Amino acid sequence: MSQPDVQYVQDQLRLAQCAICKKSRFAIDSRSIGDDGNWKALCLDCHYHFPVYTDMEFYLQTQPDVSYRLKDIVCPHCHQRGVSLDFRIAMSVRESRYFVTCLHCGSPFTEQSFLEVYE
Ligand SMILES: [Zn+2]
Ligand SMILES: [Zn+2]
Repeated sequence: MSQPDVQYVQDQLRLAQCAICKKSRFAIDSRSIGDDGNWKALCLDCHYHFPVYTDMEFYLQTQPDVSYRLKDIVCPHCHQRGVSLDFRIAMSVRESRYFVTCLHCGSPFTEQSFLEVYE
C-alpha cells in the first residue's frame, strides 16, 4: 500500500481551513499513523481533530466514478485537465476535500469532494 509522506500531507493541509476557527495551521497526530491509512489531523489553534484518509488506491477502487472525475478537474495554475489524488480529509460532516496534484505542471490544490456535490 502506498501512503503519502507525513510531512507532505502536513504541508498540503495549509490549503484547507479549520471548520471551527477558520485558520490553516494543522499537524498530523503521529500516534494515528497506522497501516490502515486513516490518520488524524489536529488544528494547532483550536485543537479540533478531523480524519485524513491516505489510502487512495483503495478509495479509488471502491469509488470508480472518482477516477473519471479526476480527469476533468481543471488546474487553476496551467488550466489543463487531469490530476492525481494524493489524499482526502473530512473537515466536518458537511465538508470533505480532495488534495490533488496537477499532472501537467505539478501544482497541488484542493477540490471539494465530488461525492457530496453530486449526491
Ligand atoms: Zn481550528
Ligand atoms: Zn497545472
